[in-house]
Amino acid sequence: MTRDIIEQYEQEFSSLFQAKRAFAFWKGRVALYAILKAMGIGQRDEVILPGYTCVMNVNPIKYLGAKPVYVDIEPNTFNINPKLLPEKITNRTKVIIAQHTYGYVCDMDAVMEIAGQKQVPVIEDCCLSLGSKYKGQLAGTFGEAAYFSFQWNKPYTTGLGGMAVINAEELAERIETLVEKQACEPGFQEVMMLWVQLCIYRAFVYPRTTALAQSLFRYLTKKGVIVGSSAASEFKPTMADDFLKKTSNMQAGSGLKALKKLDNIIAHRKVMADLYDRLLSEKGWPTRQYDRSVMQPVMVRYPVRIKQKDKALSKAAKAGKELGSWFECPLHPIETPLQTYDYTVGMCPEAEKAAREVVNLPLHSRVSEKTAWQIVDFITAFTASN
Ligand SMILES: *Cc1c(COP(=O)(O)O)cnc(C)c1O
Repeated sequence: MTRDIIEQYEQEFSSLFQAKRAFAFWKGRVALYAILKAMGIGQRDEVILPGYTCVMNVNPIKYLGAKPVYVDIEPNTFNINPKLLPEKITNRTKVIIAQHTYGYVCDMDAVMEIAGQKQVPVIEDCCLSLGSKYKGQLAGTFGEAAYFSFQWNKPYTTGLGGMAVINAEELAERIETLVEKQACEPGFQEVMMLWVQLCIYRAFVYPRTTALAQSLFRYLTKKGVIVGSSAASEFKPTMADDFLKKTSNMQAGSGLKALKKLDNIIAHRKVMADLYDRLLSEKGWPTRQYDRSVMQPVMVRYPVRIKQKDKALSKAAKAGKELGSWFECPLHPIETPLQTYDYTVGMCPEAEKAAREVVNLPLHSRVSEKTAWQIVDFITAFTASN
C-alpha cells in the first residue's frame, strides 16, 4: 500500500518535534488560522503578538473577528519583551503568539511562566526559526502549537507552504475535523504555476539576481501569470473564500526532499551566520547579541542595524547585493494600513526603531563565503561614505 505523500510529509515533520500531529497547508498563515479557529478564537477575543511582524500574520486574527494586541520587542533579539507581557494580558486574552524572529528564540522560560500563571495558551511562530533551540530544546516544542512557513524566503522553500505542529491531543483532533469539514483543495492550475516558479527559482535565483527576480515575480504576480505569496485581497482583513486551503502533493514532495537535507541546510546557516559575526567584528561592527549559553539559533537572515536604510537598500539592489528589509514597519510591508489592524504609531517604539534601522544579510544555500564578505564590504563601505 502506498502511503499518501502529504501524510508522509506531515508525519516526518511531526516526528522532528516529537509532536502529536502535524497538518500541512497551502501557506504558513493558513496554518495559523487553522490553529486559532480550532482553539475557538472569535469575536472580542484578544490575541497577543509582537509589534514587529508581517501583516499576513495578523490577518488570521482579524478574519476571526478577534483583536490583535501588540507587545514591543527586545532590541537585541527582536522578540517579544517578556517584561511588557503581563500588562497586556486581560481576561479577554485567549492566545499569546511567540514569534521567533530571524531565528532567535523568544525568552521561553519567561513567556511560558507568564502564560502559565495566566492560563493562556502559547502558539509559537516558527516561520523563521526551523531548527533553533532554547536551552537545548527545539523551538516549536514549548507551546500547545507551532506553525512554519515554506515560502520563498524561509528556512527551506516549497514555493509556498505551511505546517501546523500540534503538541496537544485535543487540539489536534479539532484541527483534523476542521480540515475535513472546511478546508479546500488547491487547484490544478495554481499548483502548476507554483511548480513552474519553483523550477525557475531553483535554476536562476542567486544572490546577484535576487532583486531582479523579485521585481519580475511581483510584476508577473500582478499580471496573474504566477501565484504570488500574497494576493491583493490579503492586504485587507477580509478572508477569501478559498483561504483555508490544504497543501498539494507537489509541495509535500518538495518538502520531503528538503527534510532529507535539513541537517545540511541548518549547518550551512550556522556556519554563514558565524562568518558574518567574524567579518563584521573585524570591521569593528556590532555582531549578534544573544546569550550563547541559552540559545542556539538557526538564523533565516542575519539582521544588522544601519543608518540610511532606504538608501542602502536601493544602492544594494543596483549593485546586485542581496540586502533584505524585514520588517519595513511594525506590520510589514510599509503599505499596511496600520489603523485597520489596531496598531497606533508609538505603540511599540523599539519595533518602530528596528523597522527604520534593520537590514538583513542572506544565509540561504546559495550564499557562499565570497558573497558573505562582498556583502559585508558593501554595507561597511556604504556606512563609511554616508
Ligand atoms: C512568512 C511568515 C509568516 C507567514 O508565512 P506564509 O507562508 O507566507 O503565510 C508568518 N510569520 C512570520 C514571522 C513569517 O516570517
